[in-house]
Amino acid sequence: MKIHSVDVFIVDLPTVRPHQLAMHTIVTQTIVVARLKDDEGREGWSEVATIGGASYGESTPEAIKVNIDRYITPIVIGKEPVHFDKIMYEVSKHVRGNYFAKALIEAAIIDLAARAKEVPAYELFGGKIHSSLPVAWTLASGDTEKDIEEAKELLGQRRHNIFKLKIGKGDPNKNVEHVLKINSAVGNEARITVDVNQAWDEDTANYCIAALQDGGISMVEQPLPTWNHEGMARLTSRFRVPIMADEAANTVQDVFQIAKHRAGNSIALKVCKAGGLTQTKKVAAIAEGSGLGLYGGTMIESSLGTAICAQLYSTLPELKFGTELFGPLLFKDNLTLNNITYENFEIVIPDGPGFGMEVDKEKLKHYTRE
Ligand SMILES: [Mg+2]
Repeated sequence: MKIHSVDVFIVDLPTVRPHQLAMHTIVTQTIVVARLKDDEGREGWSEVATIGGASYGESTPEAIKVNIDRYITPIVIGKEPVHFDKIMYEVSKHVRGNYFAKALIEAAIIDLAARAKEVPAYELFGGKIHSSLPVAWTLASGDTEKDIEEAKELLGQRRHNIFKLKIGKGDPNKNVEHVLKINSAVGNEARITVDVNQAWDEDTANYCIAALQDGGISMVEQPLPTWNHEGMARLTSRFRVPIMADEAANTVQDVFQIAKHRAGNSIALKVCKAGGLTQTKKVAAIAEGSGLGLYGGTMIESSLGTAICAQLYSTLPELKFGTELFGPLLFKDNLTLNNITYENFEIVIPDGPGFGMEVDKEKLKHYTRE
């Protein structure tokens, strides 16, 4: 069984409400979908998401597609999917960086390999340890009363009891006040965390984190720009509230340096930024070996990409901060015939074959860019 063809689709999927980050507000999320076919007619599918073109990271959807079509596809054609580590090693020798493109192609190869064996993809990574994982929700209306109302409603539905607030945009003092009001309203029943998405300088981080820590906030994500490892290390030693690296924690090399210099005491995993599932497991091993807490992060993938991340995260022994795999709940529509299940504050890990999602080809066609 050999890989016969690779097709890459750029898809724009509308969200149910604007989703505000420091660098971009998502109203339509651009995702990239790959389809691999083998010479026996089987299909393997995968997805990575991007945020705001080039505003969140260096991998744009257009670059992901062109780099796969031009440079990666010729390397994978004719190869046996079950040898995905060997294939990706060969890709790494010819293609530098391009982690999102590598993650996309590797996941499609793994989906194909698992489907050929008629097993869930997590079985190729030692099997799942967890059948479900805690899942955070992001409160992002920007209005304190609305956010409190939404949090209470989701607590009542037993959908989420971890809430993240994106506070990189606007006046830091007002944002801190907003977070603390939400924490006093629902903090007894829920854990409140914040994500600054690199927006503060160290002075701002010092007074804002002091206030957040005193107010009982349970984690502060990427307060400083990715380059400021020394500043992150100072914040980590200064405060007892956990400081998480996200945009700074991509590859195994990045995470080793973060662990070595304690530039954060926890990291957010993302399959796309590490360059694939195998690499994400290696990143998790570095964190485990150095005592960094883990968080199962998202780039806000739809159901297919969420299933890929969820299956991989389910094979990790401990995710101290749970996951934020809420992506499918933010979209108006779905590219798969089945969907992800959320219950009892957790995401249920989809079972196979492959990553367990069946692509809705009509929907894919409808949302694919011309
Ligand atoms: Mg983040």
